[in-house]
Amino acid sequence: MCFANQEEVLTAIGQVDAEIARYTPGRCEQSISGMHMADHCFEQGTMTVTTSYLQQMDTQRRKLLGVLDLMQQGTYGICQECGDKIPPKRLERVPDALLCVKCQTKVEQPS
Ligand SMILES: [Zn+2]
Repeated sequence: MCFANQEEVLTAIGQVDAEIARYTPGRCEQSISGMHMADHCFEQGTMTVTTSYLQQMDTQRRKLLGVLDLMQQGTYGICQECGDKIPPKRLERVPDALLCVKCQTKVEQPS
């Protein structure tokens, strides 16, 4: 998918926020159909999964905010490095791409 406008990005950020809120401790007090708090939140293993999942969500959120920022500046879809247009096909695969393939490759494998 590829973001057509700021509203779509905001929607995506809202979804990420909801996910983060769902797994953030503290919400647990307001839960949950009779389930014991300890079972819900602090079961070993679950917490580990949740933590890395939250990190992923947090990273995702930051990327989306970056995309939003670029859209506000009107530079979304333009390579931050060389100023070339990022091909729509790449944006479909990587909606939060900030660099064109060429520059991305350079960043990932500095020569
Ligand atoms: Zn570039």
